[in-house]
Amino acid sequence: MNIKQLDKEYIANTYGRADVLFVSGKGSLIYDENGKEYIDLGSGIAVSGLGIADDGWIAAVTEQLGKLSHVSNLYYTEPQVKLAQMLCERTGLKKVFFGNSGAEANEAAIKCARKYASDKYGDGVRSTIITLKNSFHGRTITTLAATGQDVFHKDFTPFTEGFVFAEANNIDSVRMLAEENACCAVMMELVQGEGGVLSLTQEFVDGVARLCEEKDMLLVIDEVQTGNGRTGELFAFMNYGITPDIVTTAKGLGAGLPIGCAMMGEKTKDTFTLSSHGSTFGGNPVCAAGAVYALSKLDDELLNEVKEKSDYIVKELRNAKGVKSVSGMGLMLGIETERDAKEIVKDCLSKGVVCLTAKTKVRLLPALNIPFEQLKKAIEILKECL
Ligand SMILES: *Cc1c(COP(=O)(O)O)cnc(C)c1O
Repeated sequence: MNIKQLDKEYIANTYGRADVLFVSGKGSLIYDENGKEYIDLGSGIAVSGLGIADDGWIAAVTEQLGKLSHVSNLYYTEPQVKLAQMLCERTGLKKVFFGNSGAEANEAAIKCARKYASDKYGDGVRSTIITLKNSFHGRTITTLAATGQDVFHKDFTPFTEGFVFAEANNIDSVRMLAEENACCAVMMELVQGEGGVLSLTQEFVDGVARLCEEKDMLLVIDEVQTGNGRTGELFAFMNYGITPDIVTTAKGLGAGLPIGCAMMGEKTKDTFTLSSHGSTFGGNPVCAAGAVYALSKLDDELLNEVKEKSDYIVKELRNAKGVKSVSGMGLMLGIETERDAKEIVKDCLSKGVVCLTAKTKVRLLPALNIPFEQLKKAIEILKECL
């Protein structure tokens, strides 16, 4: 039996897989079982920011793997501390809690926000969290409850209570919910990724930040997808000039290994106390060593490259045949197309370009360091398929 048949037999049926078996890759090139080459504009859903099998990243990871692969969080380890220090120094946030995924990062943020309010106002007095309609925050029962899309709120009841949903880019809607409910936080993505690559307006984000200040609600920014250079700044909140109380990230942080975190600011840095939260694998030394290396590569030069490549893609596609509009920020772009997005992605795959969808759009999340020649070639092929 071949791999595709065995997958159908033994893997839970939760994924609609494309008809391709990838076996290797280097940078932004990826190869299937027949040796066919593809240009990767998806980077494993914004994970492989430095491309696949980056030499420096492999060296950092394998060096750590040979020294110490795991000891648990009952002990100190250097890569985890180094990573936390780098994250705090570059974001202005003060302390980090490590988990292994985006959903866990958001779970940590939700727990932290509730505990902040519990410490200050009493347990359960101010527990509601405002999130946005069309958001995506993860697949656990609580992060599904936080996700502002009805399609996710079935089959698994009862969900975690205490989430209400505001309209994105409508400050009155947030204000109304803040007045009707006893809220501890607003949690949102600055560019809604899974929801269709939709950026929040500066005016709305400023309004939410002011409202949070006014009502002593924490401003929690979900940067699981937008973080780690994806939007052309290290974190997307830097594009907006705001100071969040908690920022979560995952996907691109480990550059290919699973690691996520919640970063706490001045107000929340001491909210978690002994045994408030924990994780067996969280901040694993091998994943952390890879993340330290990846972060060290996310310098101004690479971030500028992200902006240049973004401008190039937008310019090429904005007026291209078959394109209705282009949205997003940096190398996180959504293309509303005349043809069905899923069909376009399928055609691209058969012509050797890997791209994604988000709702009704074609979504592009290339590696931040994709060579310009490969990007150009891939965009030409995409244009043919539009
Ligand atoms: C992908 C994503 C998540 C969930 O991350 P997992 O690692 O799959 O748990 C949460 N929030 C946002 C914004 C995401 O894009």
